Amino acid sequence: MSESASRTLRVAHLYPELLNLYGDSGNILCLRKRMEWRGIEPDVREVHVGDRPSFSGVDIAFIGGGSDREQRIVCDYLLEEKDELAAFVEDGGVLAAVCGGYQLLGHSYAMGDQVVEGLGLVDLFTDHGEPRIIGNIAVESRVSPQPIVGYENHAGRTHLGEGVEPLGRVLFGRGNDGASGFEGCLYKNVLGTYVHGPLLPKNPGVADWLIARALERRYGSADLEPLDDREELAANEVMYHRLMAGEVEE
Ligand code: GLN
Repeated sequence: MSESASRTLRVAHLYPELLNLYGDSGNILCLRKRMEWRGIEPDVREVHVGDRPSFSGVDIAFIGGGSDREQRIVCDYLLEEKDELAAFVEDGGVLAAVCGGYQLLGHSYAMGDQVVEGLGLVDLFTDHGEPRIIGNIAVESRVSPQPIVGYENHAGRTHLGEGVEPLGRVLFGRGNDGASGFEGCLYKNVLGTYVHGPLLPKNPGVADWLIARALERRYGSADLEPLDDREELAANEVMYHRLMAGEVEE
C-alpha cells in the first residue's frame, strides 16, 4: 500500500437538509472524488438537525447556503456548538462556508431589519442591503491558480474586520458588499465565500486548497498529486471568458 493510500480525511457536512442552495452538496461530492482519485479515503459524515456534532476528529467542515428561514434554524443549533467550533477553527481545522454559511461565521448577520447573533468565529459582520445581489461572479484569489467562478445571490452585505484577509478580489460581479471590491474571507484555515454554483467542481484549485490544508494539519505534509482536470478547467475557463467578454449578463 502506498503512503497516500493509508490517509483518511473526515468531512463533516453540516445540516445538508437545510443549507443546500444551488447544489451546495456538489461541493462534498467534489471533495470526496478528489480525495478518492488520489487514494485518500473520504470519511464523510452528515450532521443533521438534532445531532450533537463533535469536531474533535473532523478535518474539513462544510456549511452551505440557504434561505433566511433555514439559515436562522441552523444558526440556533450552531450557537450551542460555538465553543467547540471556535476551538476547531483556532486549532487550524478546515472550514468552508458558502453564502448563508459564510454569514454565520461573523459576529452578526441581518434578517431584514433584525440583527441576529452569529458564531463570532471570524471578525466580520453582515448587514442588510437593497437590492439583493444576484448574478455571476469571478474572483481572483491566492488559493486558486484559476479565477474562482460561480453565482451569488444574497441580500446581506458582509464587512471584514481589520486584518481579516478577503478570499480575493472581485473581477466580475459584486462580492462581499458590492462596494469594497473584495469577496469572501480567509482566516486560519477558514474559507468563507458567497460563491455558489456549486463552488468546488468548477474551481478545483479551491477544492485542493481545502484538502491540502487538511492533510497538512493531520499528516504534516500535503503532497497532492495533480489530477486530469481538463473538464473542470474547461468549464472554469468558458465561464470566466464569457463573463469577461460581456457575453453573460451580470
Ligand atoms: N439568506 C442569506 C441572504 O440572502 C444567504 C442567502 C444564500 O445563502 N444564498 O443574504
